[in-house]
Amino acid sequence: MPIRRLPETLINRIAAGEVIERPASVVKELLENSLDAGAKRIDVVVRDGGATEVVVDDDGCGMGPDDLALAVERHATSKLATDADLLNIRTLGFRGEALPSIAAVSRLKVTSRVLGAENGWMLGVEGGRRAPMQPAARESGTRIEVRDLFFATPARLKFLKAPATELAHVVQVVERLAIAHPATAFAFSTGERTLRSLPAGQGGPDTMRQDRVRRVLGEDFTANAVVLEAERHGVRLTGLASLPTLHRRTNAQQFLFVNGRPVRDRLLHGAIRAGYYDRLAADRHPIVVLLLDVPSDDLDVNVHPMKTEVRFRDPQLIRGLIVGTLRQSLGEGGPRTASTVAAPLLEAAAAEQSAPWQWQRRQPALPLRPGNAGGLRETAATFVDRAAEEAVLSGQAEGGPLGAARAQVHGTFIISQTADGIVIVDQHAAHERLVHEKLKAALAGSGVPRQCLLIPEVVELDEHSATQLVARGPELAELGLIIERFGQTAVVVREIPTLLGSTDIRALINDLAEEIVHLDAATALPERLSRVCATIACHGSVRAGRRLSIEEMNALLRQMESSAEASQCSHGRPTFVEFKLADLERMFGRR
Ligand code: ADP
Ligand code: MG
Repeated sequence: MPIRRLPETLINRIAAGEVIERPASVVKELLENSLDAGAKRIDVVVRDGGATEVVVDDDGCGMGPDDLALAVERHATSKLATDADLLNIRTLGFRGEALPSIAAVSRLKVTSRVLGAENGWMLGVEGGRRAPMQPAARESGTRIEVRDLFFATPARLKFLKAPATELAHVVQVVERLAIAHPATAFAFSTGERTLRSLPAGQGGPDTMRQDRVRRVLGEDFTANAVVLEAERHGVRLTGLASLPTLHRRTNAQQFLFVNGRPVRDRLLHGAIRAGYYDRLAADRHPIVVLLLDVPSDDLDVNVHPMKTEVRFRDPQLIRGLIVGTLRQSLGEGGPRTASTVAAPLLEAAAAEQSAPWQWQRRQPALPLRPGNAGGLRETAATFVDRAAEEAVLSGQAEGGPLGAARAQVHGTFIISQTADGIVIVDQHAAHERLVHEKLKAALAGSGVPRQCLLIPEVVELDEHSATQLVARGPELAELGLIIERFGQTAVVVREIPTLLGSTDIRALINDLAEEIVHLDAATALPERLSRVCATIACHGSVRAGRRLSIEEMNALLRQMESSAEASQCSHGRPTFVEFKLADLERMFGRR
């Protein structure tokens, strides 16, 4: 076959394959254009998840007839003039590809009017074929209508998912750009239903941003987040990061922006993970809004046609800045000395960990040899003696290998005294394991007992999550959770597993929805059940942070002793560590 130059429309369809993946990509490109045009107000309407119609209307600078004609041509842009500009990109767009790509695969109509012009102009392009331009009435600004996406490329059309799924992707796009541009008002609807209505921000940039984030991500997040603010070598980092107690199953709630551009970046997600290292289980993800302002010559945004990837000139600087800022903002740098002392202790604990529990009777307490602390010596000795005495009196020390609960510290750990050492128990991890075991046993046996909620709880989700969750209704019912659809975007919870007690149902359902949306249909039923089981167990167990009475602590210890799997939580972390007195003595130089 001879070599031929491809016709323009075919070139554009090929480009569209890279730029326009689904309706959400159309919305993204159109919103970026409106923002680049300086819009203070943008209205977005999508029908059928954007498959049949996307309309974006703005009050930006608009286009005159000549520009309008050029706008739908490939490699035509008002955002780059010279080679050098490519190294200094300040706009969201710059490739001049979006409109021609969209025009090649859909029915596109652009209506625009420049401020002060006598009238506006309208241009239609269907599957790449352009109709004559016509004068049109409209306010200054631009309205772009995209109908029947991919009608001209049936192969792509087949890849579209259900409208609810496509809509979920559109929501993400709108949310991301709305967070990045708080000064612009966004109205987003499906024509019948308003999905987001975000007024233009007021006040200074920080107030504006906080307010926008609160409106988009909710009060829960802003009330449980620390503010990030740092600068290093001309790179500025701002944003919000959830406290380690607020986390999600996936990193979908991490919003990353570089110079106002929403990005997805392994380096940045990795840095966030590192910033939370030690504070969060390996399979949990914080909610983070992270904005980087990088001098444009330290950054390459021309990496991919979708412009969601960037390259940093100095990735280590960026990583260090994020990790450092997160660690500091989340409150590191406090008990430094304590952690250096604890290190050898933990090493010893790790060595002990592998040893099985030893069922030993209580040994006579080793005599304490106080140092040279003078008067304190007496007090300490008496205190320790009395504590030991109490334990004997209450008989708790005899309870078993996990000893007698002595105290709860930081609302998280139970400290118990055993015959020849101490045990530290992670209360949440331990209880979670027990609940999980009970659930599994019930599932395998006569079924999970349920309790009816006096007042059914309505939980708002998004449409896609609600659909997915309800589709898994029969499986959830087996686990004792009865839910039904409630309107478009919510579910109502009628019954819950009895052993959940008074749990935060809203949080549970949110986590389950997230879990289920990410388990694809290919995941086998037992695996799905077991994951859902783990999620329920996590919610059914005492939270870190809850105060426990000595009786409650002892009850937990005794339950742990009677469960074979109690030494690890459902996420594989240990539920307790044990220190032998001998190791403690060695640590303090007594041996
Ligand atoms: P790019 O954004 O990369 O320049 P596009 O194909 O998205 O390429 O848009 C082409 C040009 O059309 C833009 O450079 C801009 O001049 C003009 N344009 C597109 N949308 C708008 C809009 N909403 N308001 C004003 N001008 C627009
Ligand atoms: Mg563009």
